[in-house]
Amino acid sequence: MPELPEVETVKRALDKRLPGHEFVKIDTYVPALRFPLGSLGDHALLHRKIMAVRRRARYLIVEMEGCRALLLHLGMTGTLRIVPAVAPRLKHEHVVLLLENGDTLRFEDPRRFGFILPCVLSAPGVDPKELAALGPEPLSDDFSAEYLYQAFKGRKTRVKTALMDNSIVVGVGNIYANESLFLSGINPLTPAGKVPLSQCELLVDNVKATLRRAIDAGGTTISDFKGVDGSEGKFVLQLNVYGKSGEPCPKCGTEIARVAIGGRSSFYCSRCQKEQ
Ligand SMILES: [Zn+2]
Repeated sequence: MPELPEVETVKRALDKRLPGHEFVKIDTYVPALRFPLGSLGDHALLHRKIMAVRRRARYLIVEMEGCRALLLHLGMTGTLRIVPAVAPRLKHEHVVLLLENGDTLRFEDPRRFGFILPCVLSAPGVDPKELAALGPEPLSDDFSAEYLYQAFKGRKTRVKTALMDNSIVVGVGNIYANESLFLSGINPLTPAGKVPLSQCELLVDNVKATLRRAIDAGGTTISDFKGVDGSEGKFVLQLNVYGKSGEPCPKCGTEIARVAIGGRSSFYCSRCQKEQ
């Protein structure tokens, strides 16, 4: 599943290529992805200059002049690429957006959990109302130790589940939650409300550092990730615990344990990450 670093990588690539151009035709080849695609027939989306491509959580926002925008989510298997209109359409390229310069932006999504929806912004540069309930971005200053400590306060939910709750902080997927908790010495089963401020400081630093490393690597968490130009993610993110049950902890050699928390695989070292 494309996580925040992959989506950020796609965003940066699209933001270099799309602004200044405009869509002149939108073709859809299936009736629906996660949501019906019929609304893409709205002619108001065409012939408007693209102003910017932004990311919020794992959503992409392609903003056009006049406060129109496309809201995109890659779902489980979605990818975007920019190729000339003459390039043959791949089997799962369900949406093809033609630009005035003869290039096309193509949305490929074999499992169809992604979506692409038109939306109207209340002002230039703001997020669409569909994203109003999201917590702060993990790489922003709003995501601080004090903030996280207050957000966790009184919660009996496991810290790992709370860290992956988009209303607390967005974009911390399973891999990043596991790795950040390991680096912070926090047991993933700990109730969120029991994590002291000092550990919230470590956790915030490690979430940011782990995400930054993955973004610098060009999106590294999934095997089939491709950049907008078709290049593959460079698999350089060193994982310490994720997917490593039974292997020795890189810090102390204890066998990495695996447990399901909230239905998601969780990996930790019972010695470095003591239960509280
Ligand atoms: Zn250990």
